[in-house]
This record gives sequence, structure tokens and C-alpha cells, in this order.
Amino acid sequence: MSNTFDVIVIGSGPAGSAVATSSAKEGLRTAVIDEREYGGTCPLRGCNPKKVLASAATMIDETERMKGKGIERSATINWQDLMEFKRSFTEPVPDAKEKSFKKAEIETLHGKAQFIGENTIKVGEKTLDAEKIVIATGAKPAPLPIDGAEHLAYSEDFLELDQLPNRVIFVGGGYISFEFAHIAARAGSEVHIIQRGGQTLKAFDPDMVDLLQKKSKEIGIFIHLNSSVKEIQQNGTEYVVKAKQDDNEVSFHGDLVVHGGGRVPQIEDLQLDKAGIESSKTGVTVNTYLQSVSNEHVYAVGDVADTKGYPLTPVGEMEGKIVSHNILNKTKQEANYHGIPSVVFSEPKMASAGLSEIEAHEANYNVEINHQDITDWFTYSHTNDGPASVKIIVDKNTDLILGAHMIGGKADELINYFAMAIQLNIPVSKLKSVIYAFPTGVSDIPSML
Ligand SMILES: Cc1cc2nc3c(=O)[nH]c(=O)nc-3n(C[C@H](O)[C@H](O)[C@H](O)COP(=O)(O)OP(=O)(O)OC[C@H]3O[C@@H](n4cnc5c(N)ncnc54)[C@H](O)[C@@H]3O)c2cc1C
Repeated sequence: MSNTFDVIVIGSGPAGSAVATSSAKEGLRTAVIDEREYGGTCPLRGCNPKKVLASAATMIDETERMKGKGIERSATINWQDLMEFKRSFTEPVPDAKEKSFKKAEIETLHGKAQFIGENTIKVGEKTLDAEKIVIATGAKPAPLPIDGAEHLAYSEDFLELDQLPNRVIFVGGGYISFEFAHIAARAGSEVHIIQRGGQTLKAFDPDMVDLLQKKSKEIGIFIHLNSSVKEIQQNGTEYVVKAKQDDNEVSFHGDLVVHGGGRVPQIEDLQLDKAGIESSKTGVTVNTYLQSVSNEHVYAVGDVADTKGYPLTPVGEMEGKIVSHNILNKTKQEANYHGIPSVVFSEPKMASAGLSEIEAHEANYNVEINHQDITDWFTYSHTNDGPASVKIIVDKNTDLILGAHMIGGKADELINYFAMAIQLNIPVSKLKSVIYAFPTGVSDIPSML
């Protein structure tokens, strides 16, 4: 095997895979390297395994809320069976991924990649070089300045638990904490979310977040705001989390303490300085073509790249395809992050796409806000679902949707229609004129506008 390639991709997650497969398809001699199992975070330790567990939690919620309304028996989660079912999705991934790379004539290597020159890397004993090297190394949990941080479990540990502990504490109130908290509460655990500031889920609409917090409390999740965790102590099989809540010292007792304090780009081990690659704590510094600003041989995509895109799988995949295009073509493409949706897979789900209310006002649009409580609409009331609410932000001058924010049992699918309208510039009048199948959640769209 020659060690010279057209493209070397570091990381086999969604972003790296997109670069590697589209580059190889165009005939470029391509290699991909991963230090862990092939496939990356999303299919192995993120989106997919989480969705298997979250969907089970949804089913529990559905049965609970229909009790006395035609459904008689409570459903319960059998954690071991659910985890086995989850493994049936995750375990085949690494092998299947590597086979698909090989089929596409992509060279596959295992090990930690580190730069040793401008366009040269080292993987174990091997030295490889390429005209273009793409960094797609993803993100990792942010280090938390807490005494006893070694007692924290990580999101990937939670997704591998053989037994669900009776009491689970999440440090940090981001989307991963809320999703896992809803799973654990529906599976019968006592759950606490400890949030440093006064607001959880900062990337989402505050009115929707208020409703989700209210529902979370109703299902037995304790949310502690303005509580800064200082220390985690182990006491036999129990953990004691000590925090400063406003001006008081408080303690929480649990059997598992999970890191929910955000993720940071995984750049530490890459020896970026050896290749003159600029970076900051928000990732590899790239221009609008996703090329390193300081080394023309290098691109970065996905969670590790310092871009305006959220750290989400579809964003990484989009960036991967763009980089492959930019490597091959003189006319370069820029990533477009306009209207990309994101979802919290709690129950009810919460979703957003486009501008927030504040952003729309700050950008001086002629804003119209359509904010409605839709809990008593037939879509939700016939399954005793709730709360459900939507906030659609429209530019009155152009009739285009600027932002959509929602909570409800259908929010994860519904948001895609609004994302489509935002991304493709479909005016409100056109969305309202579509004949939708009835009775479905989507058929509510005209009434939301
Ligand atoms: C719990 C959880 C739930 C999530 N849920 C969702 C969701 O519902 N929807 C969504 O869109 N996104 C979700 N995400 C985010 C999503 O998983 C990421 O945005 C996505 O995986 C990023 O893809 P990537 O290719 O940039 O990085 P990754 O998928 O993280 O892949 C990076 C790869 O690089 C490898 N690597 C790192 N350093 C090196 C090195 N030096 N040498 C060799 N290999 C290296 C790693 O081993 C890894 O395999 C979730 C994330 C988590 C943690």
C-alpha cells in the first residue's frame, strides 16, 4: 500500500463519512482513519441509540395519558430488554461502515491520527500524506471544573447502562440531559437536573422551554436552577453532589451522576501546531469554504469545525459534501445554515428552526408572531397529549417564515415542514394553499399561520 492519498479523512462519523464517500465516488484516492469503532458518535453513542430509548419512553407516556380513556393497563420499561434491542442497531454499525468504505475503495486505517507536517500525519507507526487532509474528529464532553469530576458518567455510559439506577443526577440542563432525564423518569428513576444559570435549553424558544420544564416536573423530574455544582463525593455506592444554589450550600444524593455540561471540539490530540493549523476552543478555524485559514491543505467538518452550524448530524453531513465538492472544483461552495431544524427528543418533543423571536427583532424584520397554545386542538386532544404550542415568526414584507418553534408530540416531524419552507423560501400563502391529509398533525399547518 502506498501511503500517499488525494484525501485523508480523520474521523469516520457522519461528517467524515460524507467527505470520504463523495471523494472516493469522484475517483479521488481516499483514506479514512478512526481511533475508535467506525461510525462515529451519532449511530453508536448519540442520535440513534438515544432515539431507541426515547421512543420507548414516548410509548410509556402515551399509555399513561390514555389511562381511563380506553387504555387500561400501565406499560413499564424492561431496561435490559430495551438495551438489548438498542444493541441490535448499534452493534452492526462498525463492521457495516468499514465494509461500505472498502466497497467504495476507500483505504481504512485504525488508530489515533496526529499531524507531523503540513500535509503529513502519523497513525501508529505509519506515516501518510495527502494533498488534502480533512479533520472530522467530532466533539467530546467539556471538562467541568468540579472536584470529584472523575465520578461523572458520560452520555455514552448512560447509553450502555445494564441497569438503570434508582436515582440519576444530570449536571447541566442541555438537550442531552433533558432527553435522558425523560427516558430515566419514564423508566422509573428519580431524576434531578442541576443547571448553573437560570435558564435551561438556551438554544430553544424560552416559552417552549417553560412548557417543557413544567411537563418535566409533572413526570417527576426535579429541575434545580441557579445551582452551580462544586463537588462530587463518592460515599459507598452513593454519590453526593454539592452545589451552591443562590447563596446556599445544597447537596443532592444519587446512584449515578451524568455529565450534561456540553461538548467541545476534539482537537487536543491532533498536534495541530505541527501543521500550522489555527484553532480556538470552538474548533478548527475555517473560512466559509470550510478550509483551514492557516493551512490550505486542511479542511474541517462537523462538530470539530468552528462554524455557525449547530453540532448536529445533518450539519456535519452537509459540510462533508461541500468539502468534497470544494476539494474537486475550482468554483467553491459555502455552507448554508439557514433554517436547519433541531429537536429535543423528550416527551413532548420540542423543536426549532430558523431565527428566534429576539433574533428576528434584532435583524429589524417586519415581524409577525403567531404564538398559539394548540393543546386542545384535535391532533393533541384525541390522545390526551400536551402541552402543545407553536410560535411561527413571519416576515410581513416578504410573507416568508423566519423561524418556527414548537412543543408537542408531533414537533419532531412537524418542524421539518417549517424547515423546508424556510430553506426553500416557500411563502406562507403557498404553505396555506396545500391540501394536507386529514386528520394529521401536518394538516394543522394552515391554522398555525
Ligand atoms: C448523546 C448524544 C445525542 C445526540 N443526538 C443527536 C440527534 O438526535 N440528532 C443530531 O443531529 N445529532 C445528535 N447528536 C450529535 C451528533 O452525534 C454529532 O453532531 C455527529 O455525530 C457529529 O459528527 P462528526 O462526524 O462531526 O463527529 P463524530 O460522529 O463524533 O465522529 C468523530 C470520529 O472521529 C474519531 N476521532 C477523533 N479523534 C481522532 C483522532 N485523533 N484520530 C482518529 N480518529 C479520531 C472519533 O473516534 C469518532 O469516531 C448527539 C450527540 C450525542 C453525544
